Amino acid sequence: MATPLLRLRGITRTYGSGENALTVLKDVDLDIAAGEMIAIIGPSGSGKSTLMNILGCLDRATAGRYLVDGHDIAEMDSDALAALRRERFGFIFQRYQLLPDMDAMSNVEVPAIYAGIDALHRRRRAQALLERLGLGERLHHRPGEMSGGQQQRTSIARALVNGGEVILADEPTGALDTRAGEALMKLLEELHRQGHTIIVITHEPEVAAHAQRIVEIRDGRIVSDRAVAARAVEGRVVAEHAVAEKDTTSAPPVSASATSIASAVPPVGTGTGSGWRDRFLEAFRMALSAMLAHRMRSFLTMLGIIIGIASVTSVVALAGGAKQSIIEQIGALGTNTIDIYPGEDFGDSRSGKVRTLDARDADALSALSYVDSVTPSVSANATLRYGNADAQAQINGVGADYFRVKGIELAAGRFFEDAAVRALEQVAVIDHNTRERFFDDGVDPIGRILLIGNVPCRVIGVAKESNGPQSGGNLGVWTPYTTAMARLQGQDHLSNITVRVRDDVPMGAAEDAIVRLLTLRHGRKDFFTSNAEDIRETIDRTTGVMTTLISSIALISLLVGGIGVMNIMLVSVTERTREIGVRMAVGARQSDIMQQFLIESVVICLVGGAIGVALAMSTAGIFNSLSGSFKMVVSTASIAAAFACSTAVGVMFGFLPARNAARMDPVEALSRE
Ligand code: ADP
Ligand code: MG
Repeated sequence: MATPLLRLRGITRTYGSGENALTVLKDVDLDIAAGEMIAIIGPSGSGKSTLMNILGCLDRATAGRYLVDGHDIAEMDSDALAALRRERFGFIFQRYQLLPDMDAMSNVEVPAIYAGIDALHRRRRAQALLERLGLGERLHHRPGEMSGGQQQRTSIARALVNGGEVILADEPTGALDTRAGEALMKLLEELHRQGHTIIVITHEPEVAAHAQRIVEIRDGRIVSDRAVAARAVEGRVVAEHAVAEKDTTSAPPVSASATSIASAVPPVGTGTGSGWRDRFLEAFRMALSAMLAHRMRSFLTMLGIIIGIASVTSVVALAGGAKQSIIEQIGALGTNTIDIYPGEDFGDSRSGKVRTLDARDADALSALSYVDSVTPSVSANATLRYGNADAQAQINGVGADYFRVKGIELAAGRFFEDAAVRALEQVAVIDHNTRERFFDDGVDPIGRILLIGNVPCRVIGVAKESNGPQSGGNLGVWTPYTTAMARLQGQDHLSNITVRVRDDVPMGAAEDAIVRLLTLRHGRKDFFTSNAEDIRETIDRTTGVMTTLISSIALISLLVGGIGVMNIMLVSVTERTREIGVRMAVGARQSDIMQQFLIESVVICLVGGAIGVALAMSTAGIFNSLSGSFKMVVSTASIAAAFACSTAVGVMFGFLPARNAARMDPVEALSRE
């Protein structure tokens, strides 16, 4: 005799262990040949379903061997078992076990998606099967909108979509009325005639009567195994076919034995590669529908992500905008200037005592060939007096080129010239704050005499509001540096020299030459230089540090959001345990289940991230329309980073729930309410 299709040898199944151990199947031997139709009967609790689950590779025996087509399933891993369930077995359950959120077509397609059948073949076959089973009008109905018989026929179509060589039906008529139950059994008989191996569990003798062979099981042991004489009821069978197939009149007239459900149905497709795209899309679709089914919950879950992403993106936009505006200001000053200060570096407390930087240095520097112009400056505080008003101000003694080099613009009057510097003229350019402080709106300050300390100076120009030497409410006045040094402060050293390098000279070389010259003149390096490039780097560094700091705080909120996502995903997995069981029964791999839930959590996080980015962008829009000083810049890079972050959070926090789902035991999952 040829090897039977299914062979059980000494199969024992024990639930639990130790004192609570319950042995449900005891040393069962059973051979089932291809093409048989077998009924397994027995009282409730006798172990029928347990046996069926082992036959269908949903469950593994505690002891004994099970061979499918000569291959021992003990040697197969979970993916190989999933492939077996997907490609050779078709389950039919008492409670149909259709996925409630999907229509009949989609339900039937599920096993084909996992088998990697392309969409066109899959849909054609699913539709043809449903039509053949009399459900042509119900293709887009959900299980809740169909009768029990229709749902059960849908589940038969699902069992057949990948071929369904072996149909395993566990009390398929248990939830149906007598007529629907009879019709269903006729359908199974017909499948049997077409060559399908049919195994039906039942406790109803009328149902068992449709089989050729009846195996009776009692208390976990097979107590009888007998063949049944062929039934002489062909007439009735044919009559009922006519009912089942009333909407397929166009089918070719065929003899009863060839009345094939599959005859007008496109053949089972062969998997095209991995079919990962369809599986991915399917998982994506499921994720979306799960989210839409719980809108409020999904939104609240996303909130953490939304807040996290919105704040990180805003902070980065703010820092980016501030940086850009500072860099633009530097750009306006020109990038080819080098500032020379006494001391070792910015913030050197002893720099005030260094008095070696003087006007002669400035003259020496201006004699260098690559220097365009030199602008010395001194600064000190002094009391300004006009009429009977007085105030403290910063007095900046500068050269004539200073205004051009620093990009200062006039609101009124003029700047002083080289001649004025040489002649130590007592003239002053005042800033906006000083003008506001001393002169009423109607008064023109030009030509007025201002007392700086005790020195009277004539106001010749007023700078624009944004060009103050200092921010805030401080007052600033510019006078020729010669005047400031000789007449105002009585000092002969400078606080700063600004050198403008000629455009065609490289900055590095110019800076080196300046350092060499001054070091030579001073006998040691008691000064330091700084150029726009240095300042830009410093700004880059500071804003970088600030952004990192604030972003890491915002990342904490992202973390909290991620924990929320994980929590909800765990709930979602628990809620959909039965769906997971069904998917595994029809052949989903563990990786398919894992992927589905991972995608769901990534979709939640991505949608949250998108809302967060949108929030940050509208914040930026409002901010930019209100703020004059600088703009928030939401860069493409930060948007990309936001989405990358959301995806990472989704994967990180979805992993654990998804793994829990993938590792579920299919039998246990299926029996969950
Ligand atoms: P039948 O389908 O014949 O009614 P089952 O195979 O479902 O019987 O169950 C046989 C016995 O095994 C029952 O006593 C049942 O309580 C027990 N059983 C089934 N599944 C489990 C399980 N997961 N854990 C413990 N006992 C179980
Ligand atoms: Mg049962």
